[in-house]
Amino acid sequence: MSDLPLNKDFDRSPNNLDAFWMPYTWNRKFKKEPLLLTSAKGMHYTTIEGNEVLDGTAGLWCCNAGHSCERITRAVQETVAKLDFAPTFQLGHPLAFELASRVTSMLDGYDHMFFTNSGSEAVDSALKIALAYHRARGEGQRTRLIGRERGYHGTGFGGISVGGIVKNRNVFGTLLAGVDHMRHTHDLEKQAYTVGQPEWGAHLAEDLERICALHDGSTIAAVIVEPMAGSTGVLMPPKGYLEKLRTICDKHGILLIFDEVITGFGRLGTPFAVDKFGVKPDLITCAKGLTNGTIPMGGVICREGIYDAFEQAADKDPNSSIELFHGYTYSGHPVAAAAGLATLETYKEEGLFERAQGLESYWGNAAHALKGTRHVVDIRSLGLIGAIELEPRPGAAGQRAYEAFRKCFEKGVLIRTTGDIIALSPPLIIEKGQIDQIFETIQNVLNDLD
Ligand code: PMP
Repeated sequence: MSDLPLNKDFDRSPNNLDAFWMPYTWNRKFKKEPLLLTSAKGMHYTTIEGNEVLDGTAGLWCCNAGHSCERITRAVQETVAKLDFAPTFQLGHPLAFELASRVTSMLDGYDHMFFTNSGSEAVDSALKIALAYHRARGEGQRTRLIGRERGYHGTGFGGISVGGIVKNRNVFGTLLAGVDHMRHTHDLEKQAYTVGQPEWGAHLAEDLERICALHDGSTIAAVIVEPMAGSTGVLMPPKGYLEKLRTICDKHGILLIFDEVITGFGRLGTPFAVDKFGVKPDLITCAKGLTNGTIPMGGVICREGIYDAFEQAADKDPNSSIELFHGYTYSGHPVAAAAGLATLETYKEEGLFERAQGLESYWGNAAHALKGTRHVVDIRSLGLIGAIELEPRPGAAGQRAYEAFRKCFEKGVLIRTTGDIIALSPPLIIEKGQIDQIFETIQNVLNDLD
């Protein structure tokens, strides 16, 4: 078909791998012992050596319907052959309109969607929409943005500014001005081995009141949180915590943003975390599962009233013809939108969100059965996501989990690690036997690990 080097003849010497500066990777180390994937189908990857690896992470939390789904690949192939690209500035094509309608109709009370190419762009777009929304309503003094310690909101300057993972911030200088952070909600002593949401910790939302008092709530535009924090190690919101955040935001006229880049599209057994937790933010960011990871795409979903404020402001201003001066060349790209439509159809036809919900307790029990395994200090689970927290090796943070990752891979199971936490988020098509395989492999590896 083509001479693409997606096969075992590819030269894997460090020299040949040198030019690609890999993201979030210790490049020098990786290139000495590279792990390369050359195909994927359903629940499995195949490595360049021809070994099958069970995917315990849905790629990077994105392939919720499993890999290389026929409906999605067909939609991509047909669309790219028919409409390779079309601008969405002052022009359009049906696929983006259709996808926005379908996504917003999955949620009660949301009516517009702005398209981006990634989660990071979705976050920066949401922050900009929040700032511009207040300005459109004559509250331009609301310029502050509030995030949370340990939060991950991608890699844009907005996202790393409101984000709270130290290493994502501290080598990049001063970042955005006017940003503050609430404390995180994780407490190993009070929440250890919780199945689902911890009972303890709702009161931590009151930290937002401290921040409102400190800066004056009327200067704050938006608060952004991951309803369930993913990349920092899968931290569940304490029961009542998100409700309290919503109440405090309402009291001070602050927009609440849920970053659902991981939790959107079925990860928790519901379409969105909004449905799982019963709390409605004003803006929802999404990506990953929107296209099953097949083609990059993200977006911001807006609650009713947000877009209207822009329309009303534009109506009042005779010199304005555009509601929001923001957008990307590839916003609503036809091939990505086609992938999105086929993905939503797949989720629906195969009942994958219900499937995830049905597997939640089996998954949780299998995860929690590792309590007492060597090095394990905490286990968390919700929907089809889970975390196994390890005791760090003294003086070598992250090493133990990294070794576990490499050894699990050798044994045919892909896990993900962040610091000393193993994070798991399999495709929603997973079978019970495969759930067992993931946790048995992790257990065996941990038992053999120093
Ligand atoms: N927000 C959250 C909550 C995420 O988990 C991620 C990615 N893991 C992002 C934003 C950034 O998404 P992307 O890598 O597509 O830019």
